[in-house]
Amino acid sequence: MYYNENTIVYHNGAYIRASDAKGSLYDQSLHYGYAAFEGIRAYDTNNGVKIFKAKEHYERLKNSCEAVHIPYPFDNNELIEITYKIIRLNGLKNAYIRPLVTVSPNMSLIKGKEASIFIAAWEWSTLLGDKLLKIGTSTHRRITPATLKVEAKISGHYVNSIIASQEARDQGFDEALLLDIDGFVAEAPGANFFIEKDGVLFTPQLGSILPGITRATVIELCQALEIDVVEKKILPEEVSVADSAFLCGTAAEVIGISSIDNITFKKEWSDTVGATIQKAYKNLVLEKEFRTILNVA
Ligand code: PMP
Repeated sequence: MYYNENTIVYHNGAYIRASDAKGSLYDQSLHYGYAAFEGIRAYDTNNGVKIFKAKEHYERLKNSCEAVHIPYPFDNNELIEITYKIIRLNGLKNAYIRPLVTVSPNMSLIKGKEASIFIAAWEWSTLLGDKLLKIGTSTHRRITPATLKVEAKISGHYVNSIIASQEARDQGFDEALLLDIDGFVAEAPGANFFIEKDGVLFTPQLGSILPGITRATVIELCQALEIDVVEKKILPEEVSVADSAFLCGTAAEVIGISSIDNITFKKEWSDTVGATIQKAYKNLVLEKEFRTILNVA
């Protein structure tokens, strides 16, 4: 699904066939979830194939590594060029890009010695449409800054995401919503969360969430569209009386939520602020005119 016999990936300075790429079963990364990664999208835009917010993603990759003492001997401008080359070599147009930094074989619990970088990409064409999600509040709490560097995108953190997501699916929901350790709303297993109340958007403040690049983009779009947006601590009770809600992330883009814990939101998705943001986001990533973003004829 992710590669075939012709797929080219980048691994430690070389462009190689995906089927020839190797890692060690003794890597510290594999044993302890001690690796950092990114999820990036490229779009076939009006101006050619473009990686959306490449700089921001690679900066976060560097920050993630630094937060947990994984060496980062890479130049982000070079990594962006390499990523464009991977897209070209594989003839991709709309793609999902997965850079992964791992560390060398080591069984001890000390900081990583030697880093490796792997960059893979595969075709990912669907811009999500008007499908709405049924969300269930997780019994698991989001990882806390008291125990882990929540702001870093570290592989091991995703065990929390996997158990929450699977629990939601086992209960018949499409996705989970996790609370933080203090009972405030945090985020979904792989996306940030917004609610709408009386025309204003609210989103959990930074602290117990991944600082999403899409979340930041949504906030920028709100500023451009003169929509009020507030970052604050949100209680589950506030969610149940909200007019609407949506998730956002590089993979999910902006996707509406129909219900949380089987309580359906009042507003039709098409009438929500989220739907306006969803359209604006699509226009932005596809580099359509700003006039279109602002819905000006
Ligand atoms: N939260 C978590 C836990 C995530 O894994 C992601 C996806 N990277 C997000 C939020 C959204 O972040 P972004 O918009 O940067 O993709």
